[in-house]
Amino acid sequence: MKEKQTHSITLESTCKITDEICLPDTKLPRVVIVGGGFAGLALVEKLKHKEVQVVLLDKNNFHQFQPLLYQVATSALEPDSIVFPFRKQINGYKNVFFRLAEVEEIQPDSNTILTNKGSVSYDYLVLATGTTTNFFGMDSVAENSLGMKDIRDSLNIRHMMLQNLEQAAITCDDKERDALTNFVIVGGGPAGVEMAGALAEFCKYILPKDYPEYPSSIMNIYLIEAIDELLGTMSDKASSKTLKYLEDLNVKVLLNEAVSNYDGNEVTTKSDKTILAKNLIWTAGVKGQFPNGIDEKHIVRGNRIKTDANLKVEGYENIFAIGDIAALISEERPKGHPQVAQAAIQQGKWLGDSLLKIIKNEAPKPFEYKDKGSLATVGKRKAVADLGKMKFAGYFAWLLWSIVHLMSISGFRNRLMVGFNWAVSYFTYEKSNRLIIRNFKPKSSVKNRTK
Ligand SMILES: Cc1cc2nc3c(=O)[nH]c(=O)nc-3n(C[C@H](O)[C@H](O)[C@H](O)COP(=O)(O)OP(=O)(O)OC[C@H]3O[C@@H](n4cnc5c(N)ncnc54)[C@H](O)[C@@H]3O)c2cc1C
Repeated sequence: MKEKQTHSITLESTCKITDEICLPDTKLPRVVIVGGGFAGLALVEKLKHKEVQVVLLDKNNFHQFQPLLYQVATSALEPDSIVFPFRKQINGYKNVFFRLAEVEEIQPDSNTILTNKGSVSYDYLVLATGTTTNFFGMDSVAENSLGMKDIRDSLNIRHMMLQNLEQAAITCDDKERDALTNFVIVGGGPAGVEMAGALAEFCKYILPKDYPEYPSSIMNIYLIEAIDELLGTMSDKASSKTLKYLEDLNVKVLLNEAVSNYDGNEVTTKSDKTILAKNLIWTAGVKGQFPNGIDEKHIVRGNRIKTDANLKVEGYENIFAIGDIAALISEERPKGHPQVAQAAIQQGKWLGDSLLKIIKNEAPKPFEYKDKGSLATVGKRKAVADLGKMKFAGYFAWLLWSIVHLMSISGFRNRLMVGFNWAVSYFTYEKSNRLIIRNFKPKSSVKNRTK
């Protein structure tokens, strides 16, 4: 409490009661943005230097570039090359204030949000909180597998993988060794496919060098997908090429197959197949995450928040939702917009223009999404691209994928680091970050120990 009072003097804040988060009194309309992912940051960029006070709240002090999480997980990149501190991002933006806080509840009647650090009042509230891993109610899978939704997940996967490979060298039990060196990835969307490709290359190029005592056949990679094709949202050409690329890399792709149970040692599928594996990476689904307080009748499939064409949450006058969390349902898009970075960025930018109009009592234009196409890579030098009517695969698709991703990463230094790492690995197939810095413990073992 004392600390808060001291801050309130130095910051000339508007705090009247002690549980308010300190913010300067600018007398400008206050736009509170919850979440600094692709959508939230695009909105910040639109509102910087404008006649509004922008308050960005995030539970992390950094933005993360999720499309490259799998490269951190497979030791190709260091975590700090794909995360970027918010305070650095907003450097010099005099009307933008960042506060590290997790938003827990929205109280629309009083235009207030409650966070784990205190409350904040708003004139306009924008929810851009993204999604979390969806295990579809399978507790055994949630407890024993790893999702890949943020940088901590990636580091957990990396440590699990390296520790299990080390343990495989220690054990004399053949069955145990098989379980330690088998990897199962669930979900044949872009994240699963990219992860499978990167792991297969690890197996092909790194394993023989680091563990010469093993044959490379010791590491089996399985990719399980519930429908009859990979990359279901892309073209047939992209799906079939991806399947071929993965099979060429010795990935065992199981289509029309779904996981029903996982005890940390053995995966069971719905058709009663079993796979011995101590490594299960779950990329099969996401669901919206957002603070309490939004009326349940506005929450739709995938735990997304239903918005009108202006991205305003239905039933509220000054609450908006953008990015993965927003479901703008129309005849043309009965499931809402795709949960991809492009949609999030476009919604963030659009809402920036829109809010400035709303503040001036002008009518905003309905949101229009421009689909710029989809790309996915399958190991090095191979990718698939669907760009409108143009559908291609191979080296040029991979080159395009690399350029697009490199240019999208926040921060010049990060781009340089990623570019350098990629250049080294392009010629050497080296992944230089195979360090076990911290001891990874499976969620289930931590839980059992604390019982
Ligand atoms: C492994 C993986 C690979 C992907 N690959 C691609 C790809 O190749 N191409 C593509 O277009 N898309 C890809 N995506 C999807 C893309 O990353 C998302 O569509 C995009 O991140 C959505 O942006 P967003 O701003 O809505 O949410 P996010 O980027 O998820 O940001 C949400 C932010 O909200 C914060 N937050 C959440 N809850 C709270 C709270 N209660 N209080 C405070 N802060 C909170 C989080 O810390 C986070 O910073 C991938 C996603 C994953 C997980």
